[in-house]
Amino acid sequence: MTDKTLFIGSTVALPKPELDLLLADLRKNDYQTVGPHMQDESIVYTKIEGLKDLPRGILSEQNPASYRMLQTDKDRYFDFIPANQSWKQFLFPPRHTLFSASKEGKWQLKENDEPAPRYALIGVRACELAAINIQDKIFLREDFSDPIYRSRREGLFIMAVNCLDPDATCFCVSMGTGPRHTAGFDLCLTELDEVFLVEVGSELGRSMLAERTYDLPSAFVQNAANQAMDRATRSMGRTMDTRDLPELLTTHLDADRWNVVSKRCLSCTNCTLVCPTCFCWDAVDQADILGKSTRRERVWDSCFNPNYSFVVGGNTRPNIRSRYRQWLTHKLGTWKAQFDVLGCVGCGRCITWCPAGIDITEEVAAIRAEVNS
Ligand code: SF4
Ligand code: SF4
Repeated sequence: MTDKTLFIGSTVALPKPELDLLLADLRKNDYQTVGPHMQDESIVYTKIEGLKDLPRGILSEQNPASYRMLQTDKDRYFDFIPANQSWKQFLFPPRHTLFSASKEGKWQLKENDEPAPRYALIGVRACELAAINIQDKIFLREDFSDPIYRSRREGLFIMAVNCLDPDATCFCVSMGTGPRHTAGFDLCLTELDEVFLVEVGSELGRSMLAERTYDLPSAFVQNAANQAMDRATRSMGRTMDTRDLPELLTTHLDADRWNVVSKRCLSCTNCTLVCPTCFCWDAVDQADILGKSTRRERVWDSCFNPNYSFVVGGNTRPNIRSRYRQWLTHKLGTWKAQFDVLGCVGCGRCITWCPAGIDITEEVAAIRAEVNS
């Protein structure tokens, strides 16, 4: 049936093939539909057109410094937990040209005036939406709003998905960010074997869904979805005790644990690049070898990069101990004073993708234990 009385807060049962038509409608409305896709034995976020591009029957298995995918024969598309990529690449691109200059007689400057792409993000997890909300606080401040981020964020369509099978590195329950969505999406999917339950979160979401064919969900189906979400909440792989975290970290800058972790950390920057909330960037000039053209780019940077803290007279964080400590005390400490929220959503990416297997939950627990001993 097509129920024209659909309203914000409604939940309907959408046959899975209808998702293809919903994405086609989004594209007709000038959205680029981007979502999870299997590539090079991992999941990347890239342009997708429909079910055929989604990772069908794929489960992920994540542990410190370990990621692998398992193929099942299930007709399910969102059972995996996201890999290293996050949605921040679409709102805060890793590399973005600010302006370019070319020498044609005199130097000519050209601003980058390319229109911002309009993205429909397909399959955003609750922790990932929490990360977008955190980046909103960073890039859309009252006193300064970043034009690159703003132009992409304003045109965004968010199709969320509830996580039903958290991985061993997930701890969104500890951070209060998941696994179930509560607000901030246009549409939210909960995937069952036969159908997607779709919750309407905005007028835009309502109008896109209204064109599709769906049913009212039976009590049995709704009950199954609720039970699956409750199970997911109870099966977090990790926990983090967040009590008084900013005070704990910022008042124990001389804890021995900083020395211990610095012997393992490679300062490779992986944790910051995969983190959906890290936001540091640098401006670099890329000149051609003949000196006839150049462009200035904004590129992601990392507080683990030795050059990041280089100032006149020397490096303010000359060793790995000071860089790791800066990262953790910012993310789980001073970030709160700066943005009124902690900088971690419990997605677990930094645990999975750290080549040394350093686990942020273990580091916090170790510092807490040392302080309390
Ligand atoms: S610090 Fe780690 S667990 Fe927290 S949001 Fe960043 S990548 Fe995810
Ligand atoms: S904590 Fe791990 S991922 Fe982060 S810089 Fe150190 S070695 Fe790299």
